[in-house]
Amino acid sequence: MEQEPIIGIDLGTTNSEVAILEGGRAHVILEDGQALLPSVVGLSDDGQLLVGEAARNQWLLAPQRTLRSVKRRMGEDVKLTMGDQEFSPQEASAMILRELKLRAQKHLGREVSKAVITVPAYFNDAQRQATREAGELAGLEVVRIINEPTAASLTYEANQSESQKILVYDLGGGTFDVSIVQIEKNVVEVLASHGDTHLGGDDFDKLLIDHVADGFKNEHGVDLREDLRANACLWRAVERAKIRLSAEPYARIEEEFIIQKKGKPLHLSIEVSRDEYEGMIRPLIERTMKAVQTSLENAGLQAEQIDRIVLAGGATRTPLVGSELQERTGREPHLEVDPDLCVAMGAAIQAGVIAGADVGAVLVDITPYTFGVSCLGMQNGMPYPHCFSPIIHKNTPLPASRTQAYYTTYDNQERVDIHIYQGDDPDALKNTLIGRFTIEGLSDAPENNPITCGIDLDLDGILKVTAREKVSGLEKHIVIDNAISRFEEEGMSVAAERLKHLFGDTEEKGETTSQDEAVSEEENETTQIRTLLERVRGQLPGFAQENQDDVIALIEDIDDALHKGDLGQAQTKAQELEDILFYLDEA
Ligand code: AMP
Repeated sequence: MEQEPIIGIDLGTTNSEVAILEGGRAHVILEDGQALLPSVVGLSDDGQLLVGEAARNQWLLAPQRTLRSVKRRMGEDVKLTMGDQEFSPQEASAMILRELKLRAQKHLGREVSKAVITVPAYFNDAQRQATREAGELAGLEVVRIINEPTAASLTYEANQSESQKILVYDLGGGTFDVSIVQIEKNVVEVLASHGDTHLGGDDFDKLLIDHVADGFKNEHGVDLREDLRANACLWRAVERAKIRLSAEPYARIEEEFIIQKKGKPLHLSIEVSRDEYEGMIRPLIERTMKAVQTSLENAGLQAEQIDRIVLAGGATRTPLVGSELQERTGREPHLEVDPDLCVAMGAAIQAGVIAGADVGAVLVDITPYTFGVSCLGMQNGMPYPHCFSPIIHKNTPLPASRTQAYYTTYDNQERVDIHIYQGDDPDALKNTLIGRFTIEGLSDAPENNPITCGIDLDLDGILKVTAREKVSGLEKHIVIDNAISRFEEEGMSVAAERLKHLFGDTEEKGETTSQDEAVSEEENETTQIRTLLERVRGQLPGFAQENQDDVIALIEDIDDALHKGDLGQAQTKAQELEDILFYLDEA
């Protein structure tokens, strides 16, 4: 008989999701293309129950008929008023759970009656019991309640046999918590958990709302926050801009006819840069970093003892979160699994295990490489023109699209050379140059004229790099095909080359055709040039500045020629490089 499916549910403060294990893989069930169900319920003006997006949309305009953040009240003996009716927190949560159950039934085409539901690690017995009751009210037998950080780590570690210590940093819309989880022989234990139940992405929204509303008030003498409709409009526009700032260096917040003043309509149009925005939220992120420190101390661990950092919650897409975590712990957080969905997917994995299913690793399409550009920066306390500035980090899910701002370095700068690299070394020259182009004809502007550089990488590994002068909109781009597979092949050929050398002497030699010989001669030559480049890069810091510039220019030319497959040009330039080295050795 076919096993009865068990669904996994992340019942969140802001959003909830349902996931299922199918064919050994966990995936979140979509409805109308949407994975997230806003955890908001409401009654329409004619008394209809609204769950999700519709309820969220009416919240600012009809708060008396709408309930949100019900999760904060779970376990309390209270009645929540919605219109002319009262509900317990369990009942309100049951409305959300029922919607998710229906979503799963529609997807599976059969009745679903069992679920695993996640709760924060800090939930006490009463809160857990209330969650169970909410499930029952929704017609679901809650076969297990599991901790959210445990679920998040299961998406990465379901099949690990070695002991692993994982730091789960979970920043949602309204809550933050950090947990240290240990997985050993399939036993998962939360070693420490710490957090702030009133800190999340909504607080970032509030800071940005105040910034925009204050600016508008200064300009027009009207406070948007005092008008219900204008405030609702502003809130939505700001959240959209905040999300854009995770991928782009600037976001314009624009709403036509947002409010009237003496019968005349006023328009809102304010641009915010990511730098400005990060300045606003930095103190909040700092608070989360202190909690990270405290949880490490409580678990008796140093940051170096952590094997992995897993991000959960939509607000962890804020780039400052990842960069601060990396700076404090020296570990790059894992981004492979969508942070909004990893708790639900972990719940589905746990559900699958309970149902006796075979669990495979959660597979997602990610870029295995970091891509970025070179720019002027500081290296070893000195200005250095080839600092590597990553734009898309490795392990980012695909398709990915990120833009970053750079600035011209002198007045009336007419052109900027964009060099695109793949690699992780802070020194761009130690990474692989994969393309370059020049954007010319920039406006007459003082230094610090912003140029944005965007990288789009799709599932087929096609990389598009666009440079744009912000003031004029002047734009240029290039497309690099096979940005991912090319390196995989290259990585393979390097490995094959190494093995060939290892096996070389003992291998039985067959006849080679002249074409094979030509190819292997080319490969040999290429390997020799690459070895030369490797050696010279190591020697670079020892050269005087003016010599460094010459050497760097040659290295770039050679890299470029190798990438174009122009071995003749690479050999010519390699010869020039050898000549300079000879001269430097003699000097
Ligand atoms: P959650 O409670 O996990 O669903 O997280 C919801 C929070 O994540 C809300 O504050 C969202 O505005 C925020 N969020 C979602 N996507 C992004 C993004 N790309 N960048 C920054 N914040 C985001």
